[in-house]
Amino acid sequence: MSLEGKTAIVTGSNSGIGLGIARELARAGADVVINSFTDDQADHDLAREIANDHGTEVRYIQADMSKPEACRALIERAGRCDILVNNAGIQHVAPIEEFPTEKWDAIIAINLSSAFHTTAAALPMMRKAGWGRVINIASAHGLTASPFKSAYIAAKHGIVGLSKTVALETAKEPITANAICPGYVLTPLVEKQIPETARKYDMTEEEAVQKVMLERQPSKEFATVEQLGGTAVFLCSEAAAQITGTTISVDGGWTAL
Ligand code: NAD
Repeated sequence: MSLEGKTAIVTGSNSGIGLGIARELARAGADVVINSFTDDQADHDLAREIANDHGTEVRYIQADMSKPEACRALIERAGRCDILVNNAGIQHVAPIEEFPTEKWDAIIAINLSSAFHTTAAALPMMRKAGWGRVINIASAHGLTASPFKSAYIAAKHGIVGLSKTVALETAKEPITANAICPGYVLTPLVEKQIPETARKYDMTEEEAVQKVMLERQPSKEFATVEQLGGTAVFLCSEAAAQITGTTISVDGGWTAL
């Protein structure tokens, strides 16, 4: 399938899942805008590297997804948005009574409200182009809960609900809106946690992965960023044109338990 002629914007994409999705969209032929809140040479080099690898136009646009104006400015600066992937996200773990208010506000702003602002700015562009895809990166925690992650789980359940509303508001148009719900994904951040977890529980790295990190993932395997990217590319395909307002779990069976 070719996404030639389409422009994709992926928020929070200078690492991890967002970067994996940006690479797979570029591999499928899309021009891509990658983003984060930093503005380092490495960010612009990364854009050049993806462009060289796949022969599409790739730009890095700095924008802090905790700020409503910056979310909207990202879309405006890109100038075109056929595929919007709302991926930027942060985490904080603490019991509710100790959960810092500023952490709650930051998580709701970055993991949820940013998607409202980018979608509001992108929909007119999709309507003008006569085609669009909104892909929100939720989580298995958009469908289930765990203790001590109140803000993250509220935001991820929220973004599942937002996806459904956008789907209904665009139902009669060639635009779809869905949420991808990953389980545990092998990102550089997670890779770093493997030896740390092994040390903490006095286990081998293999035991730490199987017994602690993948406790809730029945497949006992991490999902990969390439699999997430492939799922995003599928949602952009003609085969997925009637898939809207729903969730796709990429979680090794987590939510089947
Ligand atoms: P990551 O930390 O590697 O990536 C997060 C990205 O968001 C980074 O590029 C970071 O620079 C960016 N970001 C953070 N704050 C930002 C801000 N204020 N403005 C702009 N960009 C910002 O983490 P990841 O694991 O790749 O997570 C990506 C998404 O996937 C998140 O929404 C996360 O909740 C979700 N997710 C991850 C997993 C997992 O196991 N890794 C599982 C389920 C869902």
